[in-house]
Amino acid sequence: MAIKIKTLEEVELMRKSCTVLSQALAEVAKALKPGTTGFEIDKLAEDFIRANGGVPSFKGYNRFPATLCISVNNAVVHGLPTARPYKDGDIISVDCGVYMNGFHGDMAYTFGIGNVKPETQKLMQVTKESLYLGIAEAVAGKRTGDIGFAVQEYCERKNPYKCVRELVGHGLGRQIHEDPQIPNYGKRNDGPKLPENAVVAIEPMVNMGTRNVYTADDDWTVITQDGKPSAHYEHTVWVKPVKSEMLTSFEWIEQAVAANEHLVKI
Ligand code: MG
Ligand code: MG
Repeated sequence: MAIKIKTLEEVELMRKSCTVLSQALAEVAKALKPGTTGFEIDKLAEDFIRANGGVPSFKGYNRFPATLCISVNNAVVHGLPTARPYKDGDIISVDCGVYMNGFHGDMAYTFGIGNVKPETQKLMQVTKESLYLGIAEAVAGKRTGDIGFAVQEYCERKNPYKCVRELVGHGLGRQIHEDPQIPNYGKRNDGPKLPENAVVAIEPMVNMGTRNVYTADDDWTVITQDGKPSAHYEHTVWVKPVKSEMLTSFEWIEQAVAANEHLVKI
């Protein structure tokens, strides 16, 4: 149950997994447009990861059948790739993990296709901003509750949204899910203390309406109970004193988004 401390060599291996992962999601960002299917981007991501020496972390994990979790519009997380073409106005949350050299990386990004409603773009923007507020709290000596408080405070009190309670961020390393759990809600100075050189995945899942969710008939996709949209952004973060460091990067993704006329710029 203890939080695993990484050596600096292990952190550098995790950075490699996270770099391939970040670039794989940039490949997804290049391909997304109205008409693209989940099957297409799932294959593209898997091919990229394997070509770069990695293995998709999620494929086969608890029997999950794919490289990407793809959650569209009112789906929160854990959605399955399908043959259904994406359409103008959809928001597509893509979550992916890469395993390489014995270590995992984990990240997620929500893409908007074409004419996404302004209120949905605002949800995406606030969710992404809340991720960075959470990361700012993920420094050595602080507690998981400090991260959750920062995310919840911004999403629920400064904005009219709701953080999902049933799914949480987590430690990671040799396993994709390690201790501690990192809820996207909480109290300051509550929960396990973050040691220096822990590595954690911080991942706000934020709903426009009710925070309540249920699991669809496919036994995977988590969906908002009121059918309103949900957004999800995630980074893998190296816990350090004063200021932590992201091992994943949105830089490649956001370059690809900027160059893709079909995607919303948040
Ligand atoms: Mg993830
Ligand atoms: Mg995760």
